[in-house]
Amino acid sequence: MLKQRTLKSLTRAVGVGIHSGQKVEITLRPAAPGTGIVFRRVDLAQPVDIPVRTTNVCDTRMATTISPEGDPGQPKVQTIEHLLSACAGLGLDNLMIDINADEVPVLDGSAASYVFLLQSAGIELQDAPKQFLRVKKPVEVRRGEGKNLMWARLVPHHGYTLSFEIEFDNPAVAATGQQYVFDMGSGGYKREIARARTFGMTKDIELMRSRGLTLGGSMDNAIVVDDYRVLNSEGLRYDDEFVKHKILDAIGDMQVVGHPLLAAYTSFKGGHALNNLLLRELLKDSEAYDIVTFEDEREAPVGFAELAPAW
Ligand SMILES: [Zn+2]
Repeated sequence: MLKQRTLKSLTRAVGVGIHSGQKVEITLRPAAPGTGIVFRRVDLAQPVDIPVRTTNVCDTRMATTISPEGDPGQPKVQTIEHLLSACAGLGLDNLMIDINADEVPVLDGSAASYVFLLQSAGIELQDAPKQFLRVKKPVEVRRGEGKNLMWARLVPHHGYTLSFEIEFDNPAVAATGQQYVFDMGSGGYKREIARARTFGMTKDIELMRSRGLTLGGSMDNAIVVDDYRVLNSEGLRYDDEFVKHKILDAIGDMQVVGHPLLAAYTSFKGGHALNNLLLRELLKDSEAYDIVTFEDEREAPVGFAELAPAW
């Protein structure tokens, strides 16, 4: 049987939220089979649990943010996508995440620090079948026209692949690879995807700061690009780090559905908003998906039964 996974022991991280600039501590704890991934705001007089699920997403403008019932007036946790991407990359199903502020620490701006943290805590196989959400019918969402067109799509696939294409009107980004395809069954998540950092353009950063956003952002946790070049002295971690970060984000955003997908995901210039719309579109039609388990591991897609190799 292909089993659910949780952590062996608890682990902690302290850092700043990239948007709020607040210092925050999170504690990642093992959870029982069937729990899924649940954030718990422990800084409130009465702790509030916020399960990671599609309908609890309340904001997707700069990052993916969740709150109970997706109600923006309720306590929230923002910028969940890099941590969720690391969980998906390691095949973690069940986790309790205590957090004492409203934003997940950005750490180094990628998922690599979370992968290291989760692997250090150890991964435990649980005595319950791992549940996959299998896409049975193609679904697609589109926004804009002409130069502003963006779309995202899920089609049935025995496995889980993600293909992304970006098209930034910026010479420094355009000089890098703008298209990438990644297969989750390859075992290459940590090597190929996890280290890709978030990025921002200097002219956007000034505007966002004036709106009280990216207050915790710096060259320690983001790639910063002006009109012509990457400003970080150490340069890029991958030749195509920008598009790889979009895949890292998409893996985290798709994990919000509560199960690993069996599907081929493709996006052209999409982002957090389009990713959440895509999941909502998928869940609208109960015939477009089902939940499957693998009693016989040999029937699972190639690479899905293996535990991620040590860091
Ligand atoms: Zn990101």
